Amino acid sequence: MAWFNRESKGVTTPTEDKREAPDGLWYRCPECKTVILSKSHHDNAYTCPSCNYHEKIGSAEYFELLFDKNQFTELDENMTSGDPLEFVDTKAYPDRIKASIKKTNLKDAVRTGYGMLNGKEITIACMDFNFIGGSMGSVVGEKIARAIENARQHKTPFLMISRSGGARMMEAGYSLMQMAKTSAKLALLAQDGLPYISLLTDPTTGGVTASYAMLGDFNIAEPKSLIGFAGPRVIRETIGKDLPDGFQSAEFVLDHGFLDFIVDRKDLKERISNLLNIISAH
Ligand SMILES: [Zn+2]
Repeated sequence: MAWFNRESKGVTTPTEDKREAPDGLWYRCPECKTVILSKSHHDNAYTCPSCNYHEKIGSAEYFELLFDKNQFTELDENMTSGDPLEFVDTKAYPDRIKASIKKTNLKDAVRTGYGMLNGKEITIACMDFNFIGGSMGSVVGEKIARAIENARQHKTPFLMISRSGGARMMEAGYSLMQMAKTSAKLALLAQDGLPYISLLTDPTTGGVTASYAMLGDFNIAEPKSLIGFAGPRVIRETIGKDLPDGFQSAEFVLDHGFLDFIVDRKDLKERISNLLNIISAH
């Protein structure tokens, strides 16, 4: 039948000209494939209403969720990385940094700020995974150290939101030094009697887990986050044994005593606010 046959051959429409819903109007859950309006997804704290999958979000989204009316003073917003080792892999490190800044509109893998959370002052540092895998280099360490210093100066609690593949290889030893620097600053915060809450999100691994992410007065996590130091393959090869089911999930890590509780992102602001009220009442 003529209707079903294309009369002129070779008619193709370039993908960009095909009529589709405008980008970003709908969200499709990668876990359960449910499709919802992006606006509803946003209003649901970027979690899926069917299966509760927590979409990976960045500092802009967390700041909007946590700071009252999304108002906060950003700290060190223009700090960018140097190239102390003149490191080159498939790209020269400064070119990689430039490309990441362009792609993400971020200056590095953490943003820090302070403002009000349910009417109480707080300093928050939040990592951005989109920037070179949320890797911790000198800028990340320095900005976190300065955010902790800000918390001490203003006598506010400190909340750290981690999402990271670990230390930034292109800065090698300089990255590792950030573990000691941030840990020392957290010790000063503790000496001042100011609370530190660490939220681990999917994924939190490597040198970040091995330093500030696990040093909270409360270490809390989002559901089903991958939390670990080395990856499962490395561990399996090292110990020569199979690993248990759910190994390195937030739920597993909680069961084994490394977390205080798991928090649904929709309840995050209230839970943090309640926790800080309880602490400050004693
Ligand atoms: Zn889902």
